[in-house]
Amino acid sequence: MRILVAGMGTSGYWAAHLALRHGHEVSACDQRTTADLALDLSKLLEMGLVFYGGSESPGLLEGMECLILSPGVPRRSALVRSALERSIPVIGEIEWGFRHAKGRIAAVTGSNGKSTTTTLLGELLGAHFSDVRTGGNLGRAFCEMVEGATDETWFVLEVSSFQLESLERFKADVAILLNITPDHQDRYARFEDYQAAKGRIFQNQGPSDFAVYSVLDQAVAAFGAAAPSGHAPFATSGELEEGAFVRGGEALWRRGGGEEVLFPLKDLPLPGVHNLENALAACLAARCSGVPEGALSAPLSRFRGLPHRLERVGEVRGATVFNDSKATNMDAVLKALTAFRSGVILLLGGKDKGTDWASLVPEAQRCCKAVIAFGAARGRVVQAFRGALPVESYATLREATPAALAMASPGDSVVLSPACASFDEFRNFEDRGEQFMAWVREAMTP
Ligand code: ADP
Repeated sequence: MRILVAGMGTSGYWAAHLALRHGHEVSACDQRTTADLALDLSKLLEMGLVFYGGSESPGLLEGMECLILSPGVPRRSALVRSALERSIPVIGEIEWGFRHAKGRIAAVTGSNGKSTTTTLLGELLGAHFSDVRTGGNLGRAFCEMVEGATDETWFVLEVSSFQLESLERFKADVAILLNITPDHQDRYARFEDYQAAKGRIFQNQGPSDFAVYSVLDQAVAAFGAAAPSGHAPFATSGELEEGAFVRGGEALWRRGGGEEVLFPLKDLPLPGVHNLENALAACLAARCSGVPEGALSAPLSRFRGLPHRLERVGEVRGATVFNDSKATNMDAVLKALTAFRSGVILLLGGKDKGTDWASLVPEAQRCCKAVIAFGAARGRVVQAFRGALPVESYATLREATPAALAMASPGDSVVLSPACASFDEFRNFEDRGEQFMAWVREAMTP
């Protein structure tokens, strides 16, 4: 087949690699030139790749039989529109991987919690099955992992909404939909379009597959209920007639009139209602994947979470500091705050994504003693919190960090959970988290 791969980030790279290994004639393009790409293409070029740097011109589609899209290339781009006009199939890297994969798939999506849940589920399955490969939108690309898989292999895949848009035959044996809250308003004209993309996680499933979904989010519950697969709903509050919920210090799974303990809550090492949600989802999915009853608590209690997700940095003069740099939207911050009763000094700001700051005020008033605004969004943060909580404003996180630490008393928590992208001051959320932790550690040394 003659294939064009659009976008040469990690997923495009491995999609091209897989296509070349299977003897296809592969071209690739990227808006960036070879010199600007993060990845070195020399191995692919040796394998026969033809690369068009600095171009995404529809002319490149001449003679092509398939267009493989990287998640970063929007479906409304001229290239995709032109491919569809020419009746060239347009698929994503996950779909391409699926067509070459042996084994079974657990797929995880949602607006928040994907990486945490995917990693945890990978560990729960890894403690029981011998060949478990975790990746997708985090870590290794699906196309990188399919090589050498057998019928016994389990893939645990984090799948983003951009990746879900370009699926066709892809089917997950077990699919998790965690939550859908506003995000990526820059790429979706309407919230419904974003919701619809997320709902595709259950597509192509059948009666022997499982849909794991939260019933507390209406749209999520509707997608789950409509899934043609076995239903495995969960809720972090209230009891369910069928599904997983919490009662008396235990997470339970009730189905067909019986009940089993998924895990005692004391075995959940991560704070906040969001991590309870992630753990319920991952444990249900593990049971649906064939991990036996009673085999979840040990790997769950060993799970340490991921860096930059409400990560405990250390103590400065008796106050505990948390790095939640990955919290780039409002729901992530709201969930982070559920981990605290009082005494929070909350660092908010960065590059605004059209955030509705007012929606944070009541929950912040419940547990925060002050808000420290920083970065490009600081003006809007100050406006939202003025009169509600003490608020200070700094041009950068570099300046805001010592100010937040200085304000803290013993027993308080200083929390970076910024609700914004990082690009006004940092390369990405990891860079923001690393630098923040370095400044905090400077303050920790006597
Ligand atoms: P994703 O891969 O979907 O971005 P992560 O696990 O990396 O999810 O977490 C992203 C941010 O959202 C972090 O700040 C984290 O603390 C928060 N978070 C994690 N799980 C949830 C959840 N279930 N609901 C809301 N926020 C969450």
